[in-house]
Amino acid sequence: MGTLYIVPTPIGNLEDITLRALRVLREASLIAAEDTRTTRVLLQRYDIPTPLTSYHEHNKRMKLDTIFDALARGDVALVSDAGTPGISDPGYELIEEAIRRGVRVEPLPGANAAITALVASGLPTEGFVFLGFLPKKDKARREALASVAGEPRTLILYESPNRLTDTLETVLAVLGDRAVCVARELTKIYEEFQRGRASDVLAHYTEHPPRGEIVLLIGGAKPEETEVWDEARVLAALRERLNAGEPLSSAAKATAASAGWDRKTVYALGVRLKDSEN
Ligand code: SAM
Repeated sequence: MGTLYIVPTPIGNLEDITLRALRVLREASLIAAEDTRTTRVLLQRYDIPTPLTSYHEHNKRMKLDTIFDALARGDVALVSDAGTPGISDPGYELIEEAIRRGVRVEPLPGANAAITALVASGLPTEGFVFLGFLPKKDKARREALASVAGEPRTLILYESPNRLTDTLETVLAVLGDRAVCVARELTKIYEEFQRGRASDVLAHYTEHPPRGEIVLLIGGAKPEETEVWDEARVLAALRERLNAGEPLSSAAKATAASAGWDRKTVYALGVRLKDSEN
């Protein structure tokens, strides 16, 4: 039985691949790639003739037989389009199944956008929470951020350029004017870091709509931000959300998470608030 190698590939600059990764890709009997066209560019650059098969979100179950047949005969290298397989990319199910079947799994260290962005962000690195991509729908995105409102560690998100300003607005509304960093186009020609308060970075990207690939990092909650709010502050936050048209149930849930209050109590306050304003 061969070994399943997890092989990170560059996130932009094609030089960001290790000597070991190139050797493993060359010596494997098969490379399982998220997109064979993308991986072929890398293989051509390094003159690697190893056969490729696709392994992506939509065929990952069907492809298990092909990959385990190849593993019965030799080593298989798993790669995604960019960075580390399994991190917001296909890989997890294959790796889980390989472990279940007793196949040796060897990970190679290498490129990853989240860690690359974190170390240059200027935000605390001793602990962090990686959230991957937030849900696309506004309400779900708001709730996902509200659920980490009290988290003291640095938050790391993957974000698309056309949703960045919406997400920064949600950060402002749900988490407050935190220190943030937008790391854009890492390792590429137009690499850029925008560091500052959420409101400043939002103003920048409202004026200069971003393009390319983005990691958004958000400073964790400070102890005073995790303090329990007083009633006046809870009412003000609720009023703002309700006036913006948010339904009471989600406004109460998000406010309770930020305020350190019980959701039912906030909901009851919201009912009173609505009654008093009708
Ligand atoms: N597996 C990859 C990794 O290890 O980082 C992540 C794959 S995920 C599908 C792609 C997302 O990662 C992009 O939408 C962006 O948020 C982030 N990303 C990837 N490359 C990047 C880069 N060069 N600069 C900034 N963000 C990047």
